[in-house]
Amino acid sequence: MHEWALAESIILTIVNEAKKGGRYSFDTEVVVGELQSIDFETLEYALRELKTIAEQEHNISIKLKISRERAQFKCSRCGFTWRLADIELADDMKEAVHFVPEVIHSYMQCPRCKSHDFEIVSGRGVYVRFI
Ligand SMILES: [Zn+2]
Repeated sequence: MHEWALAESIILTIVNEAKKGGRYSFDTEVVVGELQSIDFETLEYALRELKTIAEQEHNISIKLKISRERAQFKCSRCGFTWRLADIELADDMKEAVHFVPEVIHSYMQCPRCKSHDFEIVSGRGVYVRFI
């Protein structure tokens, strides 16, 4: 259900943009972060369904591309950057991380200096990009 609510707000963003700018054709990319706990297929399905309704209702044309953004981390102590795929994480940890990204700070450390003080540079949240 979470996916449908998300899809709805994405389509609403595009429709609002249409109303604002008087544009009728939109080329958009929906970027979903790797750390976002979401069923990708369900979101994709919801987006396509809602897109069709919005297109008819508002007489606009929406081109939709959905892509995943990889998570990237940067150590606050030594400046090293790495990705989720670069490190060894047990499967249950991976699951926990996807579910509650905040817990990642207790499970993961900088591969270089072992610090737990790092920032999540990318891979969180969902956003729409207008191309
Ligand atoms: Zn470090």
